[in-house]
Amino acid sequence: MSSPQKQEISRRTSVGVKIGPITIGGGAPIVVQSMTNTDTADAAATAMQVAELAKAGSELVRITVNSAEAAAQVAPIRKRLDQMGCHVPLIGDFHFNGHKLLTEYPDCAAALAKYRINPGNVGRGSKRDEQFATMIEVACKYNKPVRIGVNWGSLDPALLTRMMDENAKLFEPKDANEVTREALIVSALDNAARAEEIGLAHDKIVLSCKVSGVQDLVTVYSEIAERCDYPLHLGLTEAGMGSKGIVASTAAVAVLLQRGIGDTIRISLTPEPGGDRTREVIVAQEILQTMGLRSFTPMVVACPGCGRTTSTFFQELADNIQTYLRNQMPVWREQYAGVEKMSVAVMGCVVNGPGESKHANIGISLPGSGESPVAPVFVDGQKTVTLKGANIAEEFQKIVDDYVRDKYAKRG
Ligand code: SF4
Repeated sequence: MSSPQKQEISRRTSVGVKIGPITIGGGAPIVVQSMTNTDTADAAATAMQVAELAKAGSELVRITVNSAEAAAQVAPIRKRLDQMGCHVPLIGDFHFNGHKLLTEYPDCAAALAKYRINPGNVGRGSKRDEQFATMIEVACKYNKPVRIGVNWGSLDPALLTRMMDENAKLFEPKDANEVTREALIVSALDNAARAEEIGLAHDKIVLSCKVSGVQDLVTVYSEIAERCDYPLHLGLTEAGMGSKGIVASTAAVAVLLQRGIGDTIRISLTPEPGGDRTREVIVAQEILQTMGLRSFTPMVVACPGCGRTTSTFFQELADNIQTYLRNQMPVWREQYAGVEKMSVAVMGCVVNGPGESKHANIGISLPGSGESPVAPVFVDGQKTVTLKGANIAEEFQKIVDDYVRDKYAKRG
């Protein structure tokens, strides 16, 4: 397998896989997706979380379909969502018993917009091929696309054993890690070819090869991107909690996206107890937006603060404005074209404040230590007003509101 450092490829595939109104690949914008962590058998809780993820910006939402009780609730979940006005496509995640659930619960098979099949968890021994074929036949019958999603933690043991044995016989055997990476790719490509033999169209297949290490992910995806033109679902599996999960995911995904690899992303964060599941959606959007690949919500530029900062007021203002902008987006997105590209700067003093403010659509430079207690505001690079007194936050928010209303075209 070649090293990722050698590769400077620009791949984004021309093959587009349609999933309801969303297209993965084929020149479409990179799609953000997420997954619920509710019990799918609990239709009310699952529909609620799907709606929250969709509202946060998830364009596809995956739910696990792991039991008869879960499969029986998929169509009711779809119905509940439609009644709520939430039409986000649902993806079913199947392991071990997917062949049974998809055939015994036709409403489930029909309600899902895509199936995720893990070739390592389809079945063992002689049953494996038959059960895989059954799932693909259901996908063909209902005209559904499939993600063949291979995972480092559940790689087909028969394939891995065979490849390890073959490697051991080589004059110069490769190291086990390299063989495992190759096995991930072989598993994805062989199963995709098998699905096509069974009758699934080439443009109904998305591939993923998820691993939990950043360098392994970069290596595996760099390689598979050169060996096929299927759209690729990108994400570091088991990324972890908090900043570690965000940093590791970003490090891996950003390198690949920059090379044109990856047509849809999911950031697999472990939420803190009681934490918000929508965090993974926001992180995925922020990766794409900060890389200049997509725009979702106005971005706030804020300085880190330093000894010149007189209080936490500017931190609070930056936080409040960011929250306000994100909360306004569901409404603004419907009303104003292009508002998601707006940038707002909130700076702590005059050292970098006016300069950074001039680069943003709207910027405010708060008074630093020893500076007069005024806050100049810049709109499209021009100083328009100087705020002072106790209501700076409210007045600045009104300036932002007025700017959005005046600057962005009203949708018909
Ligand atoms: S803009 Fe001013 S307050 Fe902010 S980090 Fe720079 S010097 Fe410090």
